[in-house]
Amino acid sequence: APFAASEGGMMTATSLAARPCPAIIGRRAHTGSNASCSAKRAARPRCRRASLRVRAADDPDPEQVATDEGCRTIVITSGKGGVGKTTTSANLGMSIARLGYKVCLVDADIGLRNLDLLLGLENRVMYTAMEVLEGECRMEQALIRDKRWRSLALLPISKNRQKYNVTKDSMSLLIDILKDMNFQYIFIDCPAGIDVGFINAIAGANEAIVVTTPEITAIRDADRVAGLLEANDIYDVKLIVNRVRADMIKKNDMMSVKDVQEMLGVPLLGAIPEDTEVIVSTNRGEPLVLKKKLTLAGIAYENAARRVVGKQDFLIDLEQPKKGLLQRTKEFFTGSD
Ligand code: ADP
Ligand code: MG
Repeated sequence: APFAASEGGMMTATSLAARPCPAIIGRRAHTGSNASCSAKRAARPRCRRASLRVRAADDPDPEQVATDEGCRTIVITSGKGGVGKTTTSANLGMSIARLGYKVCLVDADIGLRNLDLLLGLENRVMYTAMEVLEGECRMEQALIRDKRWRSLALLPISKNRQKYNVTKDSMSLLIDILKDMNFQYIFIDCPAGIDVGFINAIAGANEAIVVTTPEITAIRDADRVAGLLEANDIYDVKLIVNRVRADMIKKNDMMSVKDVQEMLGVPLLGAIPEDTEVIVSTNRGEPLVLKKKLTLAGIAYENAARRVVGKQDFLIDLEQPKKGLLQRTKEFFTGSD
C-alpha cells in the first residue's frame, strides 16, 4: 500500500513504536537531517516526551481528566507564519464554545493582530488587555463577547500594536485573571517566530497545539517550536496538519499526514484539508464551523475540537481497498466509517 493515513486515533502506543518509518516519499527525500527531527528529540534524556510520542491524541490522558474541572490554557503556535494559527484559534474556539464550554481567545499576535477580523469582532474592540494592565478598565470591559455564541470571548491585547508593552509576567497575569473568571478553555493565538512574542505568548500556557502544513519549511519550524515548548516545560503538545491535499498526497507530491506526524513525533489532533472556504470565511468574519452546510475543513475543525475536549475517538484508514478516492478522502476528514 502506498500509505496509510490516520487522524491519530489508530496510532496506539504499540503500533507507533513497532512500525518503522514509512518509505521516504516526494519532497521528503530532500529533507536530510529534517527527517530525523523526532528521533533527535526522542534521544534527548528528557522526561515526558517519550511517552507523549507514542500516545495518540485520543487516548485518555489521566492528567487531563483530572484538570477537566478547571481551566485549560492552550497556546496555538507554529514557528512559521501563514500556516493557519489564527484560523485554527478561531475555529477551535468557536467549536468548543458551541459544545457548551466557556472559551476565551487571547490574541497574542500583537504586531499582526487579526483574530478579531476572523471572528468579525473588529468593530467592537474598545478596551484591550493593555488598559486592564494599566488599571484603566476591568477585564470584563476588555473582553468582547461573541453575539452568536455568548460562551465565546475574545481578549485583544493591544490596539496600537506596541509589542514592548507586553512581558511574560503581564501575560501570565492576564491568563490568571481569565482563569478566575471561570473560563474552561483559554486559547492563545501566538505570533510567528520564536522571539520575544513567542516567549510571551507561551508564558501563561500549559498545553500547546502546533500547527504546520505538509511542507518541509513549516515542519522544520514546527519541530523547533516543539523543542522550545518542551524546554519551557510545556509537555502536553498536539499537532494540527493544515492545508492537506489528498490529490497531491496520492501523487506523491505532498507528504502524508502520517509522515508529518511521524517526523515531528507529536500526537495528532487533526488534519485540515486545503479549502477555499477558509478565505471566504475569513473575509466574512465568520469561522468555518458556523456554516450551516459544513465544508470538509469545517468538519475537520469540528472533529479536532471534539478531540480537544475528549469527545471523539475513532479510527480512519485510507487504505480501505473497496472505496473510491473521493469517498475515502471524505471519510478521512469527516471521521465517518
Ligand atoms: P497564521 O495565523 O499562522 O499566520 P492564518 O490562519 O492567518 O495563519 O492563515 C494564513 C492564510 O492561509 C490565510 O489567508 C488563510 O485564509 C489561509 N488558510 C489557512 N488555512 C487554510 C486552509 N485549510 N485552506 C485554505 N486556506 C487556508
Ligand atoms: Mg495569525
